[in-house]
Amino acid sequence: MKPAPFSYVRPATLDEALAVLAADPHAKVLAGGQSLVPLLSMRLAQPSTLVDINGLAELAYVRTDEDGVRIGALARHADVESDADAWRVQPLLRQALRLVAHPTIRNRGTTLGSVVHADAAAEMPAVVSLLGAKVLVASTEGRRTIDATDLFIGPLECTVRTSEVALELQVPALGARTGSAIDEVARRHGDYALCGVASVVSVGQTGAIETVRASYLSVSLTPLVLDLSEAFIDGTASDANLEAAVEIATAGVDPDTDIHATADYRRHLAGVLTRRVVRDAYSRAVAPDPEGAR
Ligand SMILES: Cc1cc2nc3c(=O)[nH]c(=O)nc-3n(C[C@H](O)[C@H](O)[C@H](O)COP(=O)(O)OP(=O)(O)OC[C@H]3O[C@@H](n4cnc5c(N)ncnc54)[C@H](O)[C@@H]3O)c2cc1C
Repeated sequence: MKPAPFSYVRPATLDEALAVLAADPHAKVLAGGQSLVPLLSMRLAQPSTLVDINGLAELAYVRTDEDGVRIGALARHADVESDADAWRVQPLLRQALRLVAHPTIRNRGTTLGSVVHADAAAEMPAVVSLLGAKVLVASTEGRRTIDATDLFIGPLECTVRTSEVALELQVPALGARTGSAIDEVARRHGDYALCGVASVVSVGQTGAIETVRASYLSVSLTPLVLDLSEAFIDGTASDANLEAAVEIATAGVDPDTDIHATADYRRHLAGVLTRRVVRDAYSRAVAPDPEGAR
């Protein structure tokens, strides 16, 4: 199918982009086009105007300091994935981006676009929710920052308004004595996952587990974050504690059956993956990665 007719503008400045968005409530921002263009082709999205932000070169950056990583709207998945400083300060970004589609799609698709697209089967919304990231947005009214907890409100629906351009994703650094991991099961490598789980585990000075959180993709309408800490009350990653975490996870997810997998299978995967990623994140918390990333 071909897209419905639309106007196309490629502003040279952010102010120009914001003015077009303010004037047309049915306009849409085009970033990497890796999600929007298929939606246009299927006529699931029929914007009156496409505001192509690819002329705003100042938004193509990945900046890292000890507080975290700031990712501009035109940073492609591949830019973030290959950024050694970002890997050192927040390793879950690269760990997750390696699971996003295929390299050709990661060369074009933007990390912030993936967040705004708000697909609960995608890796970045789950990562952003787990890490408590923020999104800086701008409109002709000014700028505001949206916390991850206020970002995702439904399937493919987030609180970035149609009059706004998302400018920057702000991802906090991973804490001291903290490890992260992500894993997923997909029918083919690069496909959207049937289920995926990311986890962050923090340990105290003695190596005892203090907090365990996990974020789930493809098992709910929006990314789901569960606190699994209560399963590790004695501070160890024993088989019994991991099993208790699996029980919390399988009780906490509420997947649907669709053409790809049954709800029961997805729930089973959530348990299997929880055990795996919590164990891996714990290992990295107590023994940092030799490459420098925890
Ligand atoms: C075959 C295929 C497989 C894929 N597999 C995966 C996968 O396994 N996991 C995964 O996470 N993703 C996957 N993707 C999607 C890919 O990651 C996209 O690049 C990403 O989801 C969207 O980024 P984009 O820059 O392409 O956004 P676009 O397609 O340009 O835009 C997506 C939406 O976000 C809005 N938007 C984008 N940027 C902004 C902004 N700065 N401000 C305001 N609104 C904005 C657009 O208006 C649109 O509604 C896949 C894509 C394809 C084509």
